[in-house]
Amino acid sequence: MEPEGKPCPFCHATDTEKQADFGTSLMVSRYYCRQCKSLFEAIKWGDTSQKLDLPGFLGPADEQ
Ligand SMILES: [Zn+2]
Repeated sequence: MEPEGKPCPFCHATDTEKQADFGTSLMVSRYYCRQCKSLFEAIKWGDTSQKLDLPGFLGPADEQ
């Protein structure tokens, strides 16, 4: 269903192919755009702005 290629950030073509599973960091994959013949990197996990679900502040326990 989902196309293998990520859209090119330069020309927005989807005619791209994955070159490597890892780019300059572990969370990006390297892609090659056949349209404008440039390499680019795309973040694997789409949205990196995940909220950290931290537990609420726990008040001091009642001392007895
Ligand atoms: Zn391109």
